[in-house]
Amino acid sequence: MQKGSCLCGDITYRVTGTPRGLSVCHCGQCRRQSGHVWASAVIEETDIQIDGPVAWYEASDIAKRGFCAKCGSFLFWKAYSEDTISFSLGSLDSPTGLRLEKHIYVSDKGDYYDIADGLPQRDQ
Ligand SMILES: [Zn+2]
Repeated sequence: MQKGSCLCGDITYRVTGTPRGLSVCHCGQCRRQSGHVWASAVIEETDIQIDGPVAWYEASDIAKRGFCAKCGSFLFWKAYSEDTISFSLGSLDSPTGLRLEKHIYVSDKGDYYDIADGLPQRDQ
């Protein structure tokens, strides 16, 4: 089981089951909201218990972005059409025992850094 929280601790969550799709997203929305890139994993909605006042920003027609309105931590990403939710790897308690798998939306990445960890890179 994984546990995580926002910076101030008002929002906590517990993940059961096995997180998958561990990725670093380089899209413009994730970079603006997180300050750089956003690392996350996917879990079935039924395998995560969230406690606390998550604020949701409807960034597009396809997904909303969950964050803490008090401390600003960007914790969750939820596609309307899927029964899964993504949670941020940076908000997990250590040790996570997890490893990143890939970079996504690399075609949208910023010009101020390089990706040099050897993991697979997807345009989207
Ligand atoms: Zn908070």
